[in-house]
Amino acid sequence: MPELPEVELMCRNLRRWTSGKTIVATEGIENASQLLHKNIRTCFRRGKYCILPIGELFVIIHFRMTGKVVLLREERKFLRRKIILCDGMEIGIIDQRRFSTLEIIVSANYESRFTSLGEEVWPIHRSAQWYQSRLGNRRSSLKALLLRQDIIAGLGNIMCSEICFRIRCNPQMKASDLSLDQWGLLDGAIHEFVGQVLSEEEGDEIHYVSQGGSLPKSFLVYGRGGLPCVECTASIIHWQISGRATYACPKCQAYEVS
Ligand SMILES: [Zn+2]
Repeated sequence: MPELPEVELMCRNLRRWTSGKTIVATEGIENASQLLHKNIRTCFRRGKYCILPIGELFVIIHFRMTGKVVLLREERKFLRRKIILCDGMEIGIIDQRRFSTLEIIVSANYESRFTSLGEEVWPIHRSAQWYQSRLGNRRSSLKALLLRQDIIAGLGNIMCSEICFRIRCNPQMKASDLSLDQWGLLDGAIHEFVGQVLSEEEGDEIHYVSQGGSLPKSFLVYGRGGLPCVECTASIIHWQISGRATYACPKCQAYEVS
């Protein structure tokens, strides 16, 4: 499933491919006639959404489980939506599981569309106090809170395991047990991980680990169950939190669940 860095990469690709162009035809997009022959101004990310301002409209794409945006150079399996640009370039959204969404809204409704979405933590930097004031008085696990899109936008399951390892906190740790110093490590961990994924996965197409892509070097614990910890060589353990695969080092992230 695409998380903040993958969505950011797809936004950058969409911006590179579409900015300043117009759409001349589409396939698989409802009410698409209103998009035709209007200028695509840019593309930007909000949480896990890619947003394209087109004329007085916004196109909002969410990739859900398996969706991704690609440049169409040949016939592709699972092609669900297609956009043909004025210069002949063809952009596709391919999606094996069909959960991805594409909405068209008028720009006046943009703010209200995202009122329930939390704040961004990248590329903006956030302080220890910022994290503590939003998450620190809650008894839920750190991982469960980091995944709450209504508090922080864009973090996903893989990122949570990676961030918790980088700050040496167990994903099951109660948020109320973290010290101010530990909250202060989150910003650096998030920026380090996002930066690594962006440089590692940069290219015309994202390859998801869940669909057989190879494990990126930036994944220090995720997908590494049973393998030695990069820090202390203990075997990485994995289990489920709220039905989602979770990875941690039993030594570097030791924690007694009370
Ligand atoms: Zn370790």
